[in-house]
Amino acid sequence: MPLLPPTPTLIAHLAAIVGPGHALTTSADQAAYLTEWRGLYTGRTLLVLRPGSTAEVSAILSACHEARVGVVPQGGNTGLVGGQIPFETGREIVVSLARLNRIRHVDPHGRHMTAEAGVTLASVQAEADRHGQFFPLSLASEGTCQIGGNLATNAGGLNVLAYGNAREQVSGLEVVLADGRVWDGLRALKKDNTGYDLRDLFIGSEGTLGIITAAVLKLRPRPAERYSAFLAVADLDAALAVFKRAEAKAGSRLTAFEFLSAFALRVVLAHVAGTRAPFGASYPWYLLLEVSAPEADGSGASLLEELLTALADDGLILKAVLPQTEAGRAAVWRLREELSDAQRHEGGSIKHDVSVPVEQIAEFIRRADSLVEQICPGARPCAFGHFGDGNIHYNVTQPAGMEKAAYLALWGMMNEAIHTLIAEMGGSISAEHGIGRLKRAELARFRSKVELDLMRALKAALDPRGILNPGKVIDVGADGPQPPSI
Ligand code: FAD
Repeated sequence: MPLLPPTPTLIAHLAAIVGPGHALTTSADQAAYLTEWRGLYTGRTLLVLRPGSTAEVSAILSACHEARVGVVPQGGNTGLVGGQIPFETGREIVVSLARLNRIRHVDPHGRHMTAEAGVTLASVQAEADRHGQFFPLSLASEGTCQIGGNLATNAGGLNVLAYGNAREQVSGLEVVLADGRVWDGLRALKKDNTGYDLRDLFIGSEGTLGIITAAVLKLRPRPAERYSAFLAVADLDAALAVFKRAEAKAGSRLTAFEFLSAFALRVVLAHVAGTRAPFGASYPWYLLLEVSAPEADGSGASLLEELLTALADDGLILKAVLPQTEAGRAAVWRLREELSDAQRHEGGSIKHDVSVPVEQIAEFIRRADSLVEQICPGARPCAFGHFGDGNIHYNVTQPAGMEKAAYLALWGMMNEAIHTLIAEMGGSISAEHGIGRLKRAELARFRSKVELDLMRALKAALDPRGILNPGKVIDVGADGPQPPSI
């Protein structure tokens, strides 16, 4: 049976659950919840709800399940694949988790923190720091994105190399199921081998299997020192050699290894106020690496200096800066972190968040550049990303002077070519941003029938009426989720 639009009676009931001021019905109040960061999608809804507790989320889902009304969960609205935005039909309601913003508990000795879904990532990091601990997940959107959204998207970011992605930062979850039941899985255990791992099902499910309302987060020892270096290299083969040497020398102390192209650096310098070129000349590729040390004994600095001297002696790096102050370190990191935003000033940009084995990054970029030139001569690849994770943000900026809409009309064709190449190279068409709405058709193209059947079976089991984030991630067919035989 298809989903239905919310009736006036249901809207009044849902508004009463959250109380005055937290059921938004005017377009002015709803605007911030209906467009996303890249401006690709603008949704419509009759109702945005801002519940203030797990019990309220449960009551909302119970009522929507009963009434067969679609629900779009939303965290900080920084997602890059449109998963958090309702469709243009206006038939779904939006549930914002922003008011579930309490830190429930911090145990610095046991090294864990229980935070509600709407706590921003930056607040989680700050709270860990206040207790002398470290929460390693770090994204350029951390001031706005929420921990619930990070877990729902299994976010990656800058420290995956040493600490893993969001999935690896969590030991327990509290989730409201599609029918309103609450699963209390807020366990802080290191070992728990009791049956299927329900926690891992919800992480990365992008709001299609349940609404995460709280999580037990793992805290790590806070590094006493962190040192960064910004390097110039001649090509990506040299970048790989530098990565291998850095990994061999620093081991788990190598906490980040990022890269950006000459064009990407030019874009940041041209459009982000207060940024400065690290070198007097331009070089083909740049690397940004970070070494962390557990003790403030200068060992991190000597390790990095020895590494850079050896790399320079062997001709692997062309130039290097090693900032000596925290302000200098922040300045080189800004060159990388501002890139996502800076690109919009150059016009249309067609995005690919892909991954390949790290040894194949150079070959991927060579082949991708050639495909792009065939599809749109003069288009400007703006490649950057998390080199150490094999994660390339292969964004392609429009040719100078081309009309933006005409360029963006090539999105499907360019995605198809790049994703086909990625599949040939054994990579992934979504390294860290997820599937959402943007890549749903692509998921169907690249995952096997068995994998798609398994995903549909999970969706049908956990959300039999298909009310949770309908139309996102997995196509369940016009008649709603039917369990396939597996
Ligand atoms: P939203 O955007 O609100 O939602 C994202 C998805 O999760 C939607 O499908 C939504 O329905 C679902 N969802 C949200 N909250 C919940 C919940 N509590 N329960 C169930 N489902 C929920 N991503 C990376 O991985 N790495 C990066 O380095 C990175 N850098 C970024 C830089 C910038 C400048 C920007 C704008 C984005 C970046 N992102 C990055 C993408 C984005 O920040 C992440 O995907 C983030 O995890 C989304 O969190 P959010 O709270 O904003 O979620």
